[in-house]
Amino acid sequence: MIAENMKEEVQKNSTVRQMFEEGRRRAKLYGEDKVFDFSLGNPSVPAPEEINREIIRLVQESDSLKLHGYMSNAGYEDVRKQVADSLNRRFDTHFTENNIIMTTGAAGAINIIFKTLLNPEEEVIIFAPYFMEYRAYVKNHKAVPVIVPPDTETFQPNLEAFEKAITPRTKALLLNSPNNPTGVVYSEETIIKIAGILKQKQEEFGTEIYIVSDEPYRELVYDDVKVPFVTRYYDNTAVCYSFSKSLSLPGERIGYLVIPNEFCDYEQVFAAASIAIRIMGYMNAPSLMQKVIGNCIDLETDIEVYDRNRKILYNGLKELGFECVKPEGAFYLFMKSPMESDFEFAEKAKEHNILIVPGTSFTCPGYLRISYCVSEATIRNSLIEFKKLAQELNL
Ligand code: PLP
Repeated sequence: MIAENMKEEVQKNSTVRQMFEEGRRRAKLYGEDKVFDFSLGNPSVPAPEEINREIIRLVQESDSLKLHGYMSNAGYEDVRKQVADSLNRRFDTHFTENNIIMTTGAAGAINIIFKTLLNPEEEVIIFAPYFMEYRAYVKNHKAVPVIVPPDTETFQPNLEAFEKAITPRTKALLLNSPNNPTGVVYSEETIIKIAGILKQKQEEFGTEIYIVSDEPYRELVYDDVKVPFVTRYYDNTAVCYSFSKSLSLPGERIGYLVIPNEFCDYEQVFAAASIAIRIMGYMNAPSLMQKVIGNCIDLETDIEVYDRNRKILYNGLKELGFECVKPEGAFYLFMKSPMESDFEFAEKAKEHNILIVPGTSFTCPGYLRISYCVSEATIRNSLIEFKKLAQELNL
């Protein structure tokens, strides 16, 4: 018998899992090139060649015992310094290795800071729509997710509802920009307002409220859009970062957590987070990938590929009469469902071998997420099928 809370998770996970299975089934039936699987956020640009070269160099030239051995819980000190220096160069911050913990991607970083901060029954505010695993991450630590409904005009956070959602039990706000699933980047104005609201509420309730800023898509932005670096606006901010998307390394499980000196009780929090990483049993960042990342810290992925896909898809869908949120970052496009039910529309799209995820999965019914981290040919060919869909629906 599985645990009660896992029953709920299994049920929730089934939409995307079923879609993945369906994609595999259809690919066998109709051929890979006839199935347009937009369901997963798996990068379609290969990792930079320098990464592979650095892996080979390290394996050939390093002392094996050192390269594959245990290190400080927080990660290799020299690598943490390379990460801190890179952030300082880019964001005019003043971090040192003592502000950085190497993690198994963003998921690892979020769970470590939650394990460090959250007591049972404390609340974590999340803006809808949001990455579907957030809710489970909060529950992992017996805390309570509080969902703020979306502003479907702009898909910037709904700040009026946010202010009302804050209570004396609020421990953290989990932010994600560039956003999965909308592709929207939260503006500097939004971040300043959020910081203002939180500062005022901290004073009103005499509590500390933290921002956990989940930023795996930070470098994936288009048209010169700027992603504000949140620690510069609000002291109680921890940043969760991952190289999964920015360097196309999702399977390697490498990222980091930033805890700035300005964070309340910084020293205690950093020490506790360095223990949380151990006692969760599986969170220590892999040693080889730490070294690789340290030496490749300023590499960038070729975002031109995603940008081209974004433009072809967005312009193509708009021309066909679909309503879409203009994506500014990440590799997701959020589309308004032309049918009342996003689930029904996803089913209808499936008849054309188009696989897209209903917004209900991200707590935003009436919309659908299209992951455009696929080949350009997939996008172009899918538009032929989207055209048929538009005709069937009289758009
Ligand atoms: N946060 C968001 C918003 C994501 O979209 C993802 C993965 O898709 C993650 C966190 C998890 O990232 P990682 O693979 O680096 O743990």
